[in-house]
Order: sequence, then C-alpha cells, then structure tokens
Amino acid sequence: MGIYLAALILLSFLLWIKSIFHRHRLTLLKSLKRVTNMTSETDGADVTALLVTAHPDDECMFFAPTVIRLVELKARVHVLCLSEGNYYNQGARRKQELLDSCAVLGIPASRVTITDHKNLPDDPKAEWSVSLVSSVIAKHIRALSVNMVLTFDGRGVSGHANHTAIYKAVSHLAITGQIPDDCCLLSLVTVGLLRKYISFLELPLSWLLPSCLCCIVGSEGFRQAKAAMLCHRSQLLWFRYLYISLSRYMYINTFQLIPQGPKNLKIY
Ligand SMILES: [Zn+2]
Repeated sequence: MGIYLAALILLSFLLWIKSIFHRHRLTLLKSLKRVTNMTSETDGADVTALLVTAHPDDECMFFAPTVIRLVELKARVHVLCLSEGNYYNQGARRKQELLDSCAVLGIPASRVTITDHKNLPDDPKAEWSVSLVSSVIAKHIRALSVNMVLTFDGRGVSGHANHTAIYKAVSHLAITGQIPDDCCLLSLVTVGLLRKYISFLELPLSWLLPSCLCCIVGSEGFRQAKAAMLCHRSQLLWFRYLYISLSRYMYINTFQLIPQGPKNLKIY
C-alpha cells in the first residue's frame, strides 16, 4: 500500500513540474514585458540583453536557461565576460571555449566581448575595483543600447569574489543613477546548497517563490546547456560532470530586479 502511495505522490509531483513548465512557456513573454520596455506581443525582438559574467563558462554554467529562452524569443543577447579566465594560464584557450559555448547557446561571436584588463584578473582573492568594473559595464550598456542587464546577485551563486564584484559594480551604477531610463537590471538569484543540487526537482519552489523573471528549460534546453558546458573542455574535471547532472541552474534561472536610484545623481 505504502509503495503505491509513494508512487502516486511521485507521479503527482512530476505532473506538477510538467504543468509548471508549460505555464512558464505561456507567461515568459508577459514577465519580460513587465521588466523591460518591450512592446512586441509576439516575441522579444525589442530586447537587447547584456549578460555580464566574470569568467568563460559562467554564461552556460549559471545562465544557460535564460540565454536559451531569450535567443528563442529573438532577443539580441550580448555577453560581456570580464576576464579571460586566466587563473591557470589558460586564457587563450578559454577565450575560444567561450566563443564555442556562446555559439551553441545561439550567441554569435560578434556579440561576445572578453575584456583582458590587468586589474581584473581571474582570481577569487583579487578585489576588483567597483569603479573600473562599473565604467566597463556602463560603456557597454551605452554602446549597445542595452535595455536589460543580467548578472550575478550579491552572493554570486558560487560565492566567487569576481562574481560578487560585478553585482557591486552594477548596484553602484543603479544607485548613482547611471543607467539609462529604459534599462532594467536583473540579478540571478543564488539558492542554498540543497536547492542548488536537486536539478529540475527544485522547479516548484522557484516557481512559487517571488521573482521578477523565471526562465526554465526542458530536456531539449538541458541538452543545449550541456553541450555548451562541454565546450569548456579545459574545465571538464569530474565534479563538472556532477554539476551538469545535478545543478538546478542547468534548468532554472530566477531573477530579482536591482533597484535603481534617482538619475544623474552627483556623488560628492
Ligand atoms: Zn565564474
């Protein structure tokens, strides 16, 4: 009797996940309209998104569901990667891996920028300057007429100092009113360890908890995200395979809006 009950509960849970996935497909465009200034009713062609990451592989390891969904909706997605990922002196190789991974996710090389600034090293112990990072990001927002910036939140998913430095820089731009009026800033929600490693089973929680944007992919999107991860061959140690199999970020991204202060605020 007990085993039948357990099977029934499991089946109901999986059906719930499936129904959330289908509802998400219907509501994603509405959520995008709420957070951006896009007017299109049919797709996201009005959206020019800038994904700001710290290292080659962040784009697929953490943001793949979002990139896949945005590209599918015909949004222009640009990637700004602030380091070559040169911690083990593999910078040149990792640059190419990033371009390959972006191509798998649907982002052409012309929309990928990798900065190689000596003061922005790939190093968890290095403290990236808020003013330097924010000036690089602001320059890209203006040059590309970006209306949506996506990046890490204050916990940086993995807690890497380079990830959190980007959040600090974007928050600085937001607070000091240096973001164009029509540009929204979104930070990727960091979840706790248990939620992080239960793969798509975490979906109901992400769906029920408040967020301003939720991007979910199914098995097809997962395969695309996995293929992008496999482009980063220099990083493919055993625990990466474990990450691919268990991480909820391979299926689900949720975002919060980074609040913006008054425009053109002068700081004395
Ligand atoms: Zn990283």
